[in-house]
Amino acid sequence: MGIYLDYNASTPIDERVLKFMVDVYRNNYGNSDSRTHEYGNEAKRIVEESRVKVASVLKIEKDEVFFTSGATESNNIVIQGLREYGEKHGKKHIISTNIEHKTVLENVKNLVKYGFEVDLVSPDETGRVSSEKIISLVRDDTLLVCVMHVNNETGIIQPVKEIGDYLSKRNVFFHIDATQSFGKLIDELQNIKYDTLVMSAHKIYGPQGIGALIMRKKHYRFPPIKNLMFGGQQERGIRPGTVPVALVAGLGKACELATLEYKKRQKHNLECKKTILRLLDESGLVYGINGNQEYCVDSTLSLFLKGISSEALMLATKHFCGMSNGSACNSQSYKLSYVLEAMGLPKHVIQSTIRISWGQSTDISELEISFKSLLQIALELA
Ligand code: PMP
Repeated sequence: MGIYLDYNASTPIDERVLKFMVDVYRNNYGNSDSRTHEYGNEAKRIVEESRVKVASVLKIEKDEVFFTSGATESNNIVIQGLREYGEKHGKKHIISTNIEHKTVLENVKNLVKYGFEVDLVSPDETGRVSSEKIISLVRDDTLLVCVMHVNNETGIIQPVKEIGDYLSKRNVFFHIDATQSFGKLIDELQNIKYDTLVMSAHKIYGPQGIGALIMRKKHYRFPPIKNLMFGGQQERGIRPGTVPVALVAGLGKACELATLEYKKRQKHNLECKKTILRLLDESGLVYGINGNQEYCVDSTLSLFLKGISSEALMLATKHFCGMSNGSACNSQSYKLSYVLEAMGLPKHVIQSTIRISWGQSTDISELEISFKSLLQIALELA
Protein backbone atom coordinates (compact mmCIF):
# COMPACT_ATOMS: atom_id res chain seq x y z
CA MET A 1 0.00 0.00 0.00
CA GLY A 2 3.05 2.25 0.25
CA ILE A 3 4.17 4.26 3.20
CA TYR A 4 2.49 6.35 5.87
CA LEU A 5 4.52 9.42 6.75
CA ASP A 6 1.99 11.49 8.65
CA TYR A 7 2.48 10.36 12.25
CA ASN A 8 2.13 13.93 13.53
CA ALA A 9 -1.46 13.89 12.28
CA SER A 10 -2.21 10.49 13.84
CA THR A 11 -0.24 7.35 14.61
CA PRO A 12 -1.27 3.77 13.80
CA ILE A 13 -2.65 2.14 16.92
CA ASP A 14 -0.24 -0.27 18.61
CA GLU A 15 -1.54 -3.84 18.36
CA ARG A 16 -0.98 -4.34 22.09
CA VAL A 17 -3.11 -1.27 22.83
CA LEU A 18 -5.83 -2.51 20.50
CA LYS A 19 -5.86 -5.95 22.08
CA PHE A 20 -6.11 -4.47 25.56
CA MET A 21 -9.01 -2.26 24.45
CA VAL A 22 -10.88 -5.11 22.78
CA ASP A 23 -10.66 -7.10 26.02
CA VAL A 24 -12.09 -4.15 27.93
CA TYR A 25 -14.87 -3.57 25.37
CA ARG A 26 -15.76 -7.24 25.61
CA ASN A 27 -15.54 -7.79 29.33
CA ASN A 28 -15.80 -4.47 31.13
CA TYR A 29 -18.85 -2.74 29.75
CA GLY A 30 -19.98 -1.23 33.03
CA ASN A 31 -20.20 2.50 33.64
CA SER A 32 -17.24 3.51 35.79
CA ASP A 33 -19.50 5.78 37.81
CA SER A 34 -22.00 3.08 38.71
CA ARG A 35 -21.57 2.48 42.43
CA THR A 36 -24.21 -0.20 42.85
CA HIS A 37 -22.56 -3.23 41.27
CA GLU A 38 -19.29 -4.94 40.47
CA TYR A 39 -19.48 -4.05 36.77
CA GLY A 40 -19.12 -0.40 37.72
CA ASN A 41 -16.41 -1.10 40.28
CA GLU A 42 -14.37 -3.07 37.77
CA ALA A 43 -14.69 -0.32 35.13
CA LYS A 44 -13.63 2.23 37.75
CA ARG A 45 -10.60 0.13 38.62
CA ILE A 46 -9.53 0.13 34.95
CA VAL A 47 -10.00 3.90 34.67
CA GLU A 48 -8.00 4.55 37.83
CA GLU A 49 -5.21 2.23 36.72
CA SER A 50 -4.97 4.22 33.50
CA ARG A 51 -4.87 7.46 35.43
CA VAL A 52 -1.82 6.16 37.29
CA LYS A 53 -0.14 5.21 34.00
CA VAL A 54 -0.70 8.67 32.50
CA ALA A 55 0.56 10.32 35.69
CA SER A 56 3.70 8.21 35.76
CA VAL A 57 4.76 9.43 32.29
CA LEU A 58 4.99 12.90 33.79
CA LYS A 59 5.89 11.85 37.37
CA ILE A 60 2.90 13.70 38.77
CA GLU A 61 0.08 12.69 41.10
CA LYS A 62 -2.80 10.71 39.68
CA ASP A 63 -5.46 13.20 40.76
CA GLU A 64 -3.77 15.76 38.48
CA VAL A 65 -4.92 13.78 35.42
CA PHE A 66 -8.35 14.53 33.90
CA PHE A 67 -9.58 12.46 30.97
CA THR A 68 -11.01 14.39 28.01
CA SER A 69 -11.57 13.62 24.33
CA GLY A 70 -8.11 14.95 23.51
CA ALA A 71 -5.94 18.00 23.14
CA THR A 72 -8.55 20.15 21.40
CA GLU A 73 -11.04 19.76 24.21
CA SER A 74 -8.34 20.14 26.86
CA ASN A 75 -7.03 23.36 25.30
CA ASN A 76 -10.59 24.71 25.28
CA ILE A 77 -11.18 23.80 28.91
CA VAL A 78 -7.99 25.52 30.08
CA ILE A 79 -8.24 28.70 28.04
CA GLN A 80 -11.97 29.33 28.22
CA GLY A 81 -12.12 27.90 31.74
CA LEU A 82 -9.77 30.57 33.09
CA ARG A 83 -11.87 33.45 31.74
CA GLU A 84 -13.99 33.91 34.85
CA TYR A 85 -10.96 33.98 37.13
CA GLY A 86 -9.22 36.51 34.87
CA GLU A 87 -12.26 38.76 34.82
CA LYS A 88 -12.73 38.58 38.60
CA HIS A 89 -9.10 39.38 39.35
CA GLY A 90 -8.44 42.00 36.69
CA LYS A 91 -6.00 39.69 34.89
CA LYS A 92 -6.98 39.96 31.28
CA HIS A 93 -3.69 39.67 29.44
CA ILE A 94 -2.58 36.51 27.62
CA ILE A 95 0.71 35.71 25.92
CA SER A 96 1.05 33.00 23.30
CA THR A 97 2.81 32.39 20.00
CA ASN A 98 1.54 32.52 16.45
CA ILE A 99 2.81 29.03 15.70
CA GLU A 100 0.44 27.36 18.15
CA HIS A 101 -2.03 24.81 16.90
CA LYS A 102 -5.37 26.38 15.96
CA THR A 103 -6.97 24.90 19.05
CA VAL A 104 -4.87 27.31 21.10
CA LEU A 105 -4.75 30.22 18.67
CA GLU A 106 -8.49 30.41 18.07
CA ASN A 107 -9.18 29.94 21.74
CA VAL A 108 -7.02 32.83 22.90
CA LYS A 109 -8.34 35.01 20.07
CA ASN A 110 -11.89 34.23 21.22
CA LEU A 111 -11.12 35.84 24.57
CA VAL A 112 -10.54 39.19 22.84
CA LYS A 113 -14.34 39.33 22.57
CA TYR A 114 -14.44 39.43 26.35
CA GLY A 115 -11.99 42.32 26.60
CA PHE A 116 -8.81 40.26 26.95
CA GLU A 117 -5.60 41.49 25.37
CA VAL A 118 -3.55 38.87 23.55
CA ASP A 119 0.12 39.15 22.60
CA LEU A 120 1.30 36.61 20.03
CA VAL A 121 5.03 36.14 19.68
CA SER A 122 6.59 35.11 16.35
CA PRO A 123 9.51 32.72 16.03
CA ASP A 124 12.55 33.60 13.95
CA GLU A 125 13.58 31.54 10.92
CA THR A 126 14.92 28.83 13.25
CA GLY A 127 11.30 28.00 14.10
CA ARG A 128 11.82 28.74 17.78
CA VAL A 129 10.22 31.51 19.74
CA SER A 130 12.47 33.41 22.10
CA SER A 131 11.86 32.78 25.80
CA GLU A 132 13.27 36.25 26.54
CA LYS A 133 10.70 37.85 24.24
CA ILE A 134 7.88 36.00 25.98
CA ILE A 135 9.20 36.79 29.45
CA SER A 136 9.62 40.49 28.55
CA LEU A 137 5.88 40.70 27.78
CA VAL A 138 4.75 39.44 31.20
CA ARG A 139 2.83 42.11 33.14
CA ASP A 140 1.09 42.29 36.49
CA ASP A 141 -2.24 41.64 34.77
CA THR A 142 -0.98 38.64 32.75
CA LEU A 143 -3.29 35.71 33.38
CA LEU A 144 -1.85 33.02 31.17
CA VAL A 145 1.07 32.10 28.92
CA CYS A 146 0.43 29.32 26.36
CA VAL A 147 3.35 27.80 24.48
CA MET A 148 3.51 24.46 22.68
CA HIS A 149 6.36 22.07 23.47
CA VAL A 150 6.98 20.71 19.97
CA ASN A 151 5.56 22.29 16.85
CA ASN A 152 3.44 19.86 14.84
CA GLU A 153 4.58 21.17 11.44
CA THR A 154 8.30 21.69 11.95
CA GLY A 155 9.10 19.40 14.89
CA ILE A 156 10.97 22.28 16.52
CA ILE A 157 11.19 22.12 20.31
CA GLN A 158 10.19 25.38 22.00
CA PRO A 159 11.94 26.81 25.08
CA VAL A 160 9.21 25.82 27.55
CA LYS A 161 11.75 24.90 30.24
CA GLU A 162 13.10 28.46 30.46
CA ILE A 163 9.62 29.98 30.32
CA GLY A 164 8.33 27.61 33.01
CA ASP A 165 11.27 28.34 35.33
CA TYR A 166 10.56 32.06 35.10
CA LEU A 167 6.78 31.85 35.40
CA SER A 168 6.91 29.55 38.42
CA LYS A 169 8.08 32.60 40.39
CA ARG A 170 5.30 34.81 39.03
CA ASN A 171 1.57 34.74 39.60
CA VAL A 172 0.88 33.67 35.99
CA PHE A 173 -0.52 30.35 34.73
CA PHE A 174 1.65 28.46 32.27
CA HIS A 175 -0.08 26.17 29.79
CA ILE A 176 1.83 23.74 27.56
CA ASP A 177 0.39 22.04 24.49
CA ALA A 178 2.42 18.84 24.66
CA THR A 179 0.42 16.98 22.02
CA GLN A 180 3.55 16.29 19.95
CA SER A 181 5.94 15.62 22.82
CA PHE A 182 4.01 13.70 25.46
CA GLY A 183 5.30 10.13 25.74
CA LYS A 184 8.24 11.04 23.50
CA LEU A 185 10.34 13.68 25.24
CA ILE A 186 9.66 12.00 28.56
CA ASP A 187 12.72 13.14 30.53
CA GLU A 188 12.40 16.71 29.30
CA LEU A 189 8.71 17.02 30.25
CA GLN A 190 9.34 15.69 33.74
CA ASN A 191 11.65 18.63 34.38
CA ILE A 192 9.42 21.41 33.10
CA LYS A 193 7.35 23.59 35.43
CA TYR A 194 3.81 24.17 34.21
CA ASP A 195 0.29 24.56 35.56
CA THR A 196 -1.62 22.82 32.79
CA LEU A 197 -0.64 20.49 29.94
CA VAL A 198 -2.56 18.67 27.23
CA MET A 199 -2.06 15.49 25.22
CA SER A 200 -3.93 13.16 22.84
CA ALA A 201 -3.59 9.35 22.85
CA HIS A 202 -3.58 9.01 19.06
CA LYS A 203 -0.18 10.70 18.79
CA ILE A 204 1.41 7.92 20.85
CA TYR A 205 -0.08 4.80 19.24
CA GLY A 206 -3.27 4.99 21.27
CA PRO A 207 -6.87 5.42 20.09
CA GLN A 208 -8.38 8.58 18.62
CA GLY A 209 -10.94 10.43 20.73
CA ILE A 210 -9.24 10.26 24.11
CA GLY A 211 -6.61 12.35 25.82
CA ALA A 212 -5.87 14.14 29.01
CA LEU A 213 -5.79 17.52 30.59
CA ILE A 214 -3.15 17.77 33.29
CA MET A 215 -3.68 20.28 36.06
CA ARG A 216 -0.86 20.69 38.55
CA LYS A 217 -1.67 21.60 42.13
CA LYS A 218 0.08 24.47 43.82
CA HIS A 219 -0.13 24.54 47.61
CA TYR A 220 -2.69 21.70 47.33
CA ARG A 221 -4.96 23.76 45.03
CA PHE A 222 -5.79 23.22 41.37
CA PRO A 223 -5.73 26.13 38.90
CA PRO A 224 -9.11 27.98 39.07
CA ILE A 225 -10.43 26.48 35.83
CA LYS A 226 -14.22 26.44 35.50
CA ASN A 227 -15.94 23.59 33.68
CA LEU A 228 -17.37 24.49 30.28
CA MET A 229 -19.93 21.67 30.23
CA PHE A 230 -22.57 20.91 32.82
CA GLY A 231 -24.59 17.94 33.89
CA GLY A 232 -22.28 15.42 35.50
CA GLN A 233 -19.62 14.99 38.13
CA GLN A 234 -17.36 12.76 36.01
CA GLU A 235 -13.73 13.86 36.05
CA ARG A 236 -14.62 15.97 39.07
CA GLY A 237 -17.00 18.08 37.02
CA ILE A 238 -14.25 19.34 34.69
CA ARG A 239 -15.38 16.98 31.92
CA PRO A 240 -18.88 15.66 32.53
CA GLY A 241 -20.17 12.68 30.55
CA THR A 242 -19.76 8.92 30.78
CA VAL A 243 -16.09 8.02 30.86
CA PRO A 244 -15.22 5.89 27.78
CA VAL A 245 -13.59 3.07 29.72
CA ALA A 246 -12.01 1.18 26.80
CA LEU A 247 -10.58 4.38 25.29
CA VAL A 248 -9.16 5.36 28.67
CA ALA A 249 -7.71 1.85 28.99
CA GLY A 250 -6.11 2.28 25.56
CA LEU A 251 -4.60 5.60 26.59
CA GLY A 252 -3.21 4.03 29.76
CA LYS A 253 -1.72 1.13 27.82
CA ALA A 254 -0.16 3.53 25.28
CA CYS A 255 1.39 5.46 28.18
CA GLU A 256 2.74 2.30 29.76
CA LEU A 257 4.36 1.29 26.46
CA ALA A 258 5.74 4.79 25.87
CA THR A 259 7.37 4.77 29.29
CA LEU A 260 8.97 1.40 28.62
CA GLU A 261 9.96 1.97 25.02
CA TYR A 262 10.57 5.67 24.37
CA LYS A 263 14.34 5.32 24.20
CA LYS A 264 14.09 2.48 21.71
CA ARG A 265 11.59 4.51 19.67
CA GLN A 266 13.90 7.54 19.67
CA LYS A 267 16.73 5.40 18.32
CA HIS A 268 14.51 4.01 15.58
CA ASN A 269 13.20 7.48 14.68
CA LEU A 270 16.74 8.80 14.34
CA GLU A 271 17.61 5.93 12.06
CA CYS A 272 14.59 6.75 9.86
CA LYS A 273 15.63 10.40 9.76
CA LYS A 274 19.19 9.49 8.73
CA THR A 275 17.80 7.24 5.99
CA ILE A 276 15.60 10.05 4.65
CA LEU A 277 18.46 12.56 4.71
CA ARG A 278 20.80 10.12 2.95
CA LEU A 279 18.24 9.44 0.22
CA LEU A 280 17.77 13.19 -0.20
CA ASP A 281 21.53 13.72 -0.54
CA GLU A 282 21.76 10.95 -3.12
CA SER A 283 18.74 12.18 -5.09
CA GLY A 284 20.27 15.14 -6.91
CA LEU A 285 17.39 17.34 -5.74
CA VAL A 286 18.03 20.75 -4.24
CA TYR A 287 16.46 20.72 -0.81
CA GLY A 288 16.42 22.48 2.51
CA ILE A 289 15.09 21.68 5.96
CA ASN A 290 12.97 24.31 7.64
CA GLY A 291 13.87 25.13 11.23
CA ASN A 292 17.08 24.75 13.17
CA GLN A 293 17.71 20.99 13.30
CA GLU A 294 19.59 21.32 16.56
CA TYR A 295 16.14 21.76 18.15
CA CYS A 296 14.19 19.33 16.01
CA VAL A 297 12.68 16.03 17.19
CA ASP A 298 13.88 12.91 15.37
CA SER A 299 10.48 12.04 13.97
CA THR A 300 9.60 15.07 11.84
CA LEU A 301 11.01 16.91 8.85
CA SER A 302 9.67 20.08 7.30
CA LEU A 303 11.25 19.57 3.93
CA PHE A 304 11.65 22.14 1.18
CA LEU A 305 12.19 20.72 -2.32
CA LYS A 306 13.35 23.53 -4.58
CA GLY A 307 11.17 24.25 -7.58
CA ILE A 308 8.58 21.57 -6.75
CA SER A 309 5.03 22.39 -5.79
CA SER A 310 4.16 20.42 -2.67
CA GLU A 311 0.56 20.16 -3.85
CA ALA A 312 1.65 18.63 -7.18
CA LEU A 313 4.03 16.25 -5.42
CA MET A 314 1.41 15.08 -2.94
CA LEU A 315 -1.08 14.52 -5.73
CA ALA A 316 1.44 12.56 -7.80
CA THR A 317 2.47 10.34 -4.88
CA LYS A 318 -0.87 10.03 -3.12
CA HIS A 319 -1.35 6.40 -4.14
CA PHE A 320 1.69 5.20 -2.22
CA CYS A 321 2.70 7.90 0.23
CA GLY A 322 0.78 9.58 3.04
CA MET A 323 2.23 12.95 3.96
CA SER A 324 1.05 16.53 4.26
CA ASN A 325 2.04 20.12 3.74
CA GLY A 326 0.63 21.52 6.94
CA SER A 327 -1.28 20.33 9.94
CA ALA A 328 -4.12 17.91 9.18
CA CYS A 329 -6.63 20.34 10.65
CA ASN A 330 -5.81 22.87 7.91
CA SER A 331 -4.91 20.61 5.03
CA GLN A 332 -8.49 20.30 3.74
CA SER A 333 -8.27 23.78 2.35
CA TYR A 334 -5.04 24.77 0.71
CA LYS A 335 -3.62 27.84 2.36
CA LEU A 336 0.00 28.70 2.93
CA SER A 337 1.17 27.30 6.26
CA TYR A 338 0.80 30.02 8.90
CA VAL A 339 3.59 28.40 10.90
CA LEU A 340 6.10 28.68 8.06
CA GLU A 341 4.84 32.19 7.28
CA ALA A 342 5.39 33.20 10.91
CA MET A 343 8.98 31.96 10.57
CA GLY A 344 9.38 34.50 7.78
CA LEU A 345 10.03 31.91 5.06
CA PRO A 346 9.50 33.12 1.47
CA LYS A 347 6.32 32.07 -0.31
CA HIS A 348 8.15 29.85 -2.81
CA VAL A 349 9.77 27.91 0.04
CA ILE A 350 6.42 27.41 1.78
CA GLN A 351 4.76 26.27 -1.44
CA SER A 352 7.52 23.71 -1.94
CA THR A 353 7.47 22.32 1.58
CA ILE A 354 6.15 18.95 2.66
CA ARG A 355 5.86 17.71 6.22
CA ILE A 356 6.84 14.13 6.82
CA SER A 357 6.67 12.40 10.16
CA TRP A 358 7.25 8.78 11.15
CA GLY A 359 7.44 6.50 14.16
CA GLN A 360 7.78 3.03 15.66
CA SER A 361 5.96 1.18 12.88
CA THR A 362 7.91 2.77 10.06
CA ASP A 363 9.81 -0.03 8.39
CA ILE A 364 13.24 1.14 7.24
CA SER A 365 13.39 -0.98 4.10
CA GLU A 366 9.89 0.05 3.10
CA LEU A 367 10.90 3.64 3.79
CA GLU A 368 13.92 3.26 1.48
CA ILE A 369 11.80 1.97 -1.40
CA SER A 370 8.88 4.37 -1.04
CA PHE A 371 10.87 7.49 -0.29
CA LYS A 372 13.19 6.77 -3.22
CA SER A 373 10.12 6.53 -5.51
CA LEU A 374 8.83 9.79 -4.10
CA LEU A 375 12.13 11.50 -4.83
CA GLN A 376 12.11 10.08 -8.34
CA ILE A 377 8.68 11.61 -8.95
CA ALA A 378 9.91 14.89 -7.43
CA LEU A 379 12.80 14.89 -9.92
CA GLU A 380 10.32 14.45 -12.78
CA LEU A 381 8.29 17.39 -11.47
CA ALA A 382 11.32 19.64 -11.03
N1 PMP B 1 -2.14 20.55 19.44
C1 PMP B 1 -1.20 20.07 18.61
C2 PMP B 1 0.19 20.58 18.68
C3 PMP B 1 -1.55 19.09 17.67
O1 PMP B 1 -0.62 18.61 16.83
C4 PMP B 1 -2.88 18.62 17.62
C5 PMP B 1 -3.30 17.56 16.62
N2 PMP B 1 -2.90 17.82 15.30
C6 PMP B 1 -3.81 19.15 18.53
C7 PMP B 1 -3.40 20.11 19.43
C8 PMP B 1 -5.23 18.70 18.54
O2 PMP B 1 -5.31 17.36 18.91
P1 PMP B 1 -6.67 16.52 18.76
O3 PMP B 1 -7.10 16.69 17.34
O4 PMP B 1 -6.28 15.13 19.10
O5 PMP B 1 -7.66 17.09 19.70
